[in-house]
Amino acid sequence: MEKKKIIILGAGESGVGAAILAQQKGYDVFVSDAGNIKPAYKEMLDLHGIPWEEGHHTMERIINADECVKSPGIPETASAPQALAQRGIPIIGELEFAGRYLKGQTICITGSNGKTTTTSLIYYILKEAGFSVGLGGNIGKSLALQVAEGEEHDWTVLEVSSFQLDTMYDFRADVSVLLNITPDHLDRYGFEMQRYVDSKMRIIQNQRKQDCFIFWNDDVYAAKELAKRREAGNRVTALPFTDFPLPGSFGADDKGIMRIDVPEGFTSRMEDGAQLSIPVSELSIPGRHNVRNCLAAAMAALAAGVEAETVKTCLRTFPGVEHRLERVEDVGGVHYVNDSKATNVDACFVALEAQTTPVVLIVGGTDKGNDYTTLFPLIARKCRAIVFLGADNATLHKAFDTFAAEHGIPLADTHSMPDCVKAAAEMAMAGDTVLLSPCCASFDLFQNMGHRGRLFKEEVRKLKG
Ligand code: ADP
Repeated sequence: MEKKKIIILGAGESGVGAAILAQQKGYDVFVSDAGNIKPAYKEMLDLHGIPWEEGHHTMERIINADECVKSPGIPETASAPQALAQRGIPIIGELEFAGRYLKGQTICITGSNGKTTTTSLIYYILKEAGFSVGLGGNIGKSLALQVAEGEEHDWTVLEVSSFQLDTMYDFRADVSVLLNITPDHLDRYGFEMQRYVDSKMRIIQNQRKQDCFIFWNDDVYAAKELAKRREAGNRVTALPFTDFPLPGSFGADDKGIMRIDVPEGFTSRMEDGAQLSIPVSELSIPGRHNVRNCLAAAMAALAAGVEAETVKTCLRTFPGVEHRLERVEDVGGVHYVNDSKATNVDACFVALEAQTTPVVLIVGGTDKGNDYTTLFPLIARKCRAIVFLGADNATLHKAFDTFAAEHGIPLADTHSMPDCVKAAAEMAMAGDTVLLSPCCASFDLFQNMGHRGRLFKEEVRKLKG
């Protein structure tokens, strides 16, 4: 019998993993990337004898495929996916593909903000509880490669982006988590919010009554969208959580106490009548947004069968994730916090909200058309000074100059990390927090947000002398 032909579009972490798994499963594999493939990935493909091309797509070969695995970074509107779609050739994603061969159960986390934090926390809890657990999706090694290499776990915790959800069809999460839906990546959705919302809601497609859907009930969209899908026949067990105790919610922040209370027999997945309560002040990660992340993670861990006491201990000891409100050092009584991951205004908003001292705020980078005015009330209340850090700070000046002058907030203009940290240190007073929470992508001055965060930490440590 002729081998089934699979084309892999995009040779990044997910594409290369999918290629290796496909080859192992007996497909005839070809990898095509319109850009440059990283040397390490070329080496992996060569090692497995998988043919690849870079810098262009050989269309005749691509449209000859039976199926395509598309990297999440490639929009549907690009030439190759268009050509495949026109011929009715199915286009799936790496998680859909790997999911076909994955053993064990999955916990899948999506949302506009908080995915990595919540995914890491759930993984941490299950690991500490002694479960057999793997981690994947947007984090670390691709799921496909893990499957190919025979890494098998009872549970796999997956961070799932909207782009990945767009190419998931038959995949079913045993436990799904939707943290929030706020405008993001709208350029990929024809600037139609509803299309982005629909993409996020795919997290519950195929879920059955015995599966769980954990979501933030205060979100503008989630509950309403669930109701629509209920009408269409979805029977997933819904576990909403909220910022305030509300009837019908299973988890809430009740006057500084995080509580989870699941009625007896509500879901067969949880210990009967699982209950948990912990003072918010004891959670290891700060800020109201992180209470939500902790609620979601704790409910997911309970749904996986972890005992409430273990969950509680882990909420106290979780070390957090690099570049997300990461405490760097205290120098001269000033706290330095690295929140380089805050690449949009919403993320900066929650970071500022979490601060309990006066703040010297560092913003700037590649602006995605930000509206900074939503930050103004918080900045007026919390910020001692603002430092701009970008190749070109003209947009920031336009947005902030009048507001800052009206509120007597000094501004500093910098174009490199050493100058930025120096300016922030000069403007800060003992007891303040210098917060790098830039609202912008990092590509104007840095390789990526990780690079920006690491340089920030290096410069801060130099201050110690
Ligand atoms: P993601 O993986 O979805 O980008 P992260 O966990 O990496 O999310 O967090 C990115 C930033 O988003 C954080 O620095 C924080 O400022 C913000 N954030 C985290 N959790 C939430 C939440 N539940 N709601 C709103 N913003 C959040």
